[in-house]
Amino acid sequence: MKYISTRGKAEKLEFADVLLAGLASDGGLYVPEELPTFSQEEIASWSGLSYAELAFKVIKPFVDTCIKDEDLKRMVDETYAGFNHSAVAPLKELGTNEWVLELFHGPTLAFKDFALQLLGRLMDHVLAERGERLVIMGATSGDTGSAAIEGCRHSEHLDIFILHPHNRVSEVQRRQMTTILADNVYNIALEGNFDDCQQMVKDSFADQAFLKGLKLGAVNSINWARIMAQIVYYFSASLAVGGPHRPVAFSVPTGNFGDIFAGYLAKQMGLPIQQLVVATNRNDILHRVISGNDMSKGDLVHTLSPSMDIMVSSNFERLLFDVYDRDGAAISELMDRFKKEPVKLDAARWEKVRELFDSACADDETTCQTIADVHAETGYLLDPHTAIGVKAARECWRDKSVPMITLATAHPVKFPEPVIKAGLEGPELPEHLSDLFEREERLDVIDNDIAAVQSFIASRVHRD
Ligand SMILES: *Cc1c(COP(=O)(O)O)cnc(C)c1O
Repeated sequence: MKYISTRGKAEKLEFADVLLAGLASDGGLYVPEELPTFSQEEIASWSGLSYAELAFKVIKPFVDTCIKDEDLKRMVDETYAGFNHSAVAPLKELGTNEWVLELFHGPTLAFKDFALQLLGRLMDHVLAERGERLVIMGATSGDTGSAAIEGCRHSEHLDIFILHPHNRVSEVQRRQMTTILADNVYNIALEGNFDDCQQMVKDSFADQAFLKGLKLGAVNSINWARIMAQIVYYFSASLAVGGPHRPVAFSVPTGNFGDIFAGYLAKQMGLPIQQLVVATNRNDILHRVISGNDMSKGDLVHTLSPSMDIMVSSNFERLLFDVYDRDGAAISELMDRFKKEPVKLDAARWEKVRELFDSACADDETTCQTIADVHAETGYLLDPHTAIGVKAARECWRDKSVPMITLATAHPVKFPEPVIKAGLEGPELPEHLSDLFEREERLDVIDNDIAAVQSFIASRVHRD
């Protein structure tokens, strides 16, 4: 299988190159040239499979011949054996036909583990075969950093440097990153804010000379392999509630549009999905595009659901590429314009987006209220991101006979503040993290100065 860029100019790559590449050279994002599809019979025949077996079936066509079947199978098995629930992604019923899909049983308690636990293994495998090394550099306001570090800590062929804003991430999130003492893991606490961290990563990707021959790899959701791994749980959830013979609906707490884009792909691949709901917090650019064709950057607001605090959702470009009939030149023009000013989609294109997605947004007050309401109704405790998903599901649900599944993207223990604001007791850390507050931490506080950060990285990378 070949991969092409959404801006139409970069050369086509195989899976292994896309895995290590990050952004395409023309500034676009990689997508498969052709999507694999599965028949209803084939999907139905998967109903007895374990999560790892199902993951292999879904992922295999994307990886194609880049990795031997037995190696891919082993990596997928190891990835999901590391989750703390036998079903890996269990469903909980909130009410009649209303479900949450718990995606927080991985090592860092958020759905990002599904992709990043696999990504670290895939990258390490390809690098070992090629006899190469890679430097991972990423910025985090919380979840991505810890999941990426957990995913890469055992990788022998890469070093990972994660920048977080000093004193501006929650203690649980910081400790999930800084207590990993592997010698290829570096936590940089930057004397700046999250945007400074992100800018520094962007600038470093643009000019990698400071690495003297080594290359940077990306672990954010522009990396195709992350999207790929996330397609699997849409299939597993559907199968668990009677699919593919019966359609299902999903509501997805959305930031960078990676997770819900995986749901859109599952549908294109043949899974009967009747409805996809985009749930946003007050950073609602996606809701504004879908409901009113208003694609304009708002000011970033900090909310109680920080993992969805995003001004521009980078993966939306992947959807626009399809909606514009894969016209790379048109996407290139649109994205260039959007850099400078608000844009509107052509009316017919916007209609296509509206046929594919419903949307809703919720502010902090509604988030806390939903946590309190659902707890009162069912005794179930939602994290703030998931609460926004449940709220949007209830608002947008078209047909109550179709199961509505909200993706539970994080464990409530990661975000105690809204739970306490909702008048409830904060939950306890699960067993495997119960000593998190006693563990030794390692981090380097560095000035908000790109030269200082780059010289730190250059002096720490392993070059063998
Ligand atoms: C990353 C994240 C999201 C947003 O996912 P996207 O793929 O960026 O849309 C939602 N909830 C939680 C808890 C997250 O960590």
